[in-house]
Amino acid sequence: MFGHGHSKVNGAAGGNLENSLRDERQKSSIILNAIEDGVMLIDKNGIIELFNPGAANITGWPESEARKLNYKSIMRLSDEKGEPYTPEQDPLTRIFTASNETIRDNKAFLVTKSGKQIPLSISVSPLLDSNKQFSGAVAIFRDVTQERQEEKQRAEFISTASHEMRTPVAAIEGYLALALNDKVSTIDSRARQYLDKAHESTQHLGKLFQDLLTSAKAEDGRLNSHPALVELGDYVEKICNDLRFAADKKGLALEFSSLGNSQTIDATGGKNVAGQKIIRPLFYVLVDPDRMREVVTNLFDNAVKYTDQGKITIGITGDDHIAQIYIKDTGVGIPAEDIPHLFQKFYRVDSSATRTIGGTGLGLYICRKIVELYQGRIWVESEMGKGSTFFINLPRLSTEQAQAQKQRESAETAMNPINSLTTPVIQ
Ligand code: ADP
Repeated sequence: MFGHGHSKVNGAAGGNLENSLRDERQKSSIILNAIEDGVMLIDKNGIIELFNPGAANITGWPESEARKLNYKSIMRLSDEKGEPYTPEQDPLTRIFTASNETIRDNKAFLVTKSGKQIPLSISVSPLLDSNKQFSGAVAIFRDVTQERQEEKQRAEFISTASHEMRTPVAAIEGYLALALNDKVSTIDSRARQYLDKAHESTQHLGKLFQDLLTSAKAEDGRLNSHPALVELGDYVEKICNDLRFAADKKGLALEFSSLGNSQTIDATGGKNVAGQKIIRPLFYVLVDPDRMREVVTNLFDNAVKYTDQGKITIGITGDDHIAQIYIKDTGVGIPAEDIPHLFQKFYRVDSSATRTIGGTGLGLYICRKIVELYQGRIWVESEMGKGSTFFINLPRLSTEQAQAQKQRESAETAMNPINSLTTPVIQ
């Protein structure tokens, strides 16, 4: 499709039209030659039709060599570990199969002509012809070595600073606890009031540093994660029981629901992977149980914090491919305009209902980062004054996948018995 217009125009039109088209083309080519970003046009067969000097600089492939080649031989993308992208990950391949929308990837790496790996930010947009049929794609990409380095330095600074500051804060908290302890200190009631407030704020500060540390780790991929086979039903029910006390304390009911509106009949034929008979659907997923507990606990803590009366429901449901956890409350709700920003760092809703409630605005960001570690998705639905429901979708393992995973874990445990102390046992 590309470049065919040229000769037709020359043949058919003359005079002004020809001049103005030539002007337009000249302008476009001046821009394409001048910009530093790589611009690449591929046709519907994946053949490179346009490759600007920026693209040549970044990839190391001269335009004359890249043109007319398939994009796959030039744009070799990989992840941060150097593993080549699968077709499902590769935005250039995905644009051919999946989408009518622009696909962006800020985490890619490119293997250049000389074999060097450079961090790349790339966006690929489909080109549609007049019948809305896919006729090619345009990719714009940039070498982001410097940005990534700066990001890393920033994250390192935050992580060192928050680590260092946690120690004195813990000391202050400890001494305040001693001052407030009747058996150790004698203080009058006014001093107690002040120290109580100081204690509360110190705890808040400690939590802020902890959250900062976790979010810095999440950002540069240092978040520890030991995924293991987890059956969500039992797992979430146990967490729920541990949390009951906090809900009781605020006079809120807490309900666990393992049936929800599940459409799925037990895909396991009524047996779990240990061969025991059960009656509800089993939802096997591969996650780090400690990390997932953080997520559920965080969403539950929020539900308690932002609910004055009523009940909190924690449930699981799903279908053949997805296992879902949801946490529903009857609280203040979240304004529609805040919802798109809620899972960003430091975002807090500023309303009269929430302003007085302390928090760091990092909790949901960390939740999202953890859920994404397991190819999951987290989102919220909410109605002001009625309540909010947070949903987490995780890829559900088939019975065969769960069996295979269980065998792998048993083999690992047998080879390294020390690990069995930390490897979570499935039910
Ligand atoms: P915070 O430490 O402020 O609670 P989070 O990242 O956990 O930080 O939450 C971000 C914001 O989302 C909160 O400040 C609050 O305004 C809103 N929010 C989170 N959960 C709920 C909920 N269950 N009900 C109402 N608002 C919520």
